[in-house]
Amino acid sequence: GKVLLTGGTGFIASHVLDILLEEGFDVVVTVRSQEKGQRVVKSVDETVGKKVSFVVVEDIAQDGAFDEAVKSDPPFEYVIHTASPYQTKWEDPVKDCLDPAIKGTTGILKSIHAYAPTVKRVVITSSSAAILKRENHPKSYNESSWSEVTEEQALDGRNTYRASKKFAELAAWDFKAKESPLFDLATINNTYTFGPIPRSLASLNTLNTSNHRIRDLVQGGMREAVPATSPLFTFVDVRDVALAHVRAMAVPEATGKRFYIVGGFFSNARIAEIVRSNFPDLAAKVLPPKEQVKDDFPEDHWTPDTTRSKTVLGLKYTSLEKTVVDTVASIIKFEGVS
Ligand code: NDP
Repeated sequence: GKVLLTGGTGFIASHVLDILLEEGFDVVVTVRSQEKGQRVVKSVDETVGKKVSFVVVEDIAQDGAFDEAVKSDPPFEYVIHTASPYQTKWEDPVKDCLDPAIKGTTGILKSIHAYAPTVKRVVITSSSAAILKRENHPKSYNESSWSEVTEEQALDGRNTYRASKKFAELAAWDFKAKESPLFDLATINNTYTFGPIPRSLASLNTLNTSNHRIRDLVQGGMREAVPATSPLFTFVDVRDVALAHVRAMAVPEATGKRFYIVGGFFSNARIAEIVRSNFPDLAAKVLPPKEQVKDDFPEDHWTPDTTRSKTVLGLKYTSLEKTVVDTVASIIKFEGVS
């Protein structure tokens, strides 16, 4: 089979690409420039490199941005749409985040509907941000929950990202219901994601947002004290997130479903402990003495209910320890910490 994977330079996409290639799919990734496309193709082992190519889609918010990218010979069977901006600050919330997130999602669905009738299923990377509320948390969250963030609140930069994910996902389900395209839909609603950094990464300065916490720790950011854990205490390993995408694409029962993807709980103190006990050299340099590390994990925290991801997708979740160790090792390998 052949898959179109958007946002090919991304952290999550790099792991989706690895699994697709392992499973024998042909993959075309979309990227924003020739140079980025070449980096992605080069990052893939040469023996399978022939099965990856790229197409440039400069601005996913433009009308018809994906019209050409969705056409291919042989044609695509699946599309995985990961491309969406994820930062913590925005100069212009609409132009920089909401438009690419929402119009990017409806845009690719329109292009597939119009030009790629062979596509059977589209998997969209949504987020736990489309599920979680800000207050009055239930005891347990599952896929039946939706964020309550409003379009008006979306314009406040502190809410923009999570709102972009909610409204992009809603727009996708709405498109499926109203336009009755030939393809069906599944969404991956993963929580805060850690894991080995992409081999195609140009610099640790352009590392994806959710890995900043571990990068900063390795670079000495927790030398004085371990900062408060925010915005969330739930994490998942990127390799589990990637597998969820590929399973949601291929498993028939995944049709029409959202999947809440959570590996477990974390706190900065727990991450610091894992680094201390697994990387003794690093511990001496970058972490405060053990007695200063206070775990701020709230004991009455709500729980994630990930039953659906286990029963339908067969996911088994990676531990925090393995996730952190492999993430730190990938950062050390990338730059070397001395
Ligand atoms: P990355 O920043 O590594 O990946 C984002 C990808 O989207 C990059 O390929 C980026 O391209 C592309 N992109 C961003 N904005 C645009 C734009 N305006 N036009 C075209 N392409 C764009 O982050 P992640 O891998 O973490 O994120 C991937 C997806 O996963 C996103 O949809 C994100 O919302 C979602 N997600 C992430 C979570 C996490 O904790 N990491 C949690 C839940 C969901 P370029 O490299 O050129 O900038």
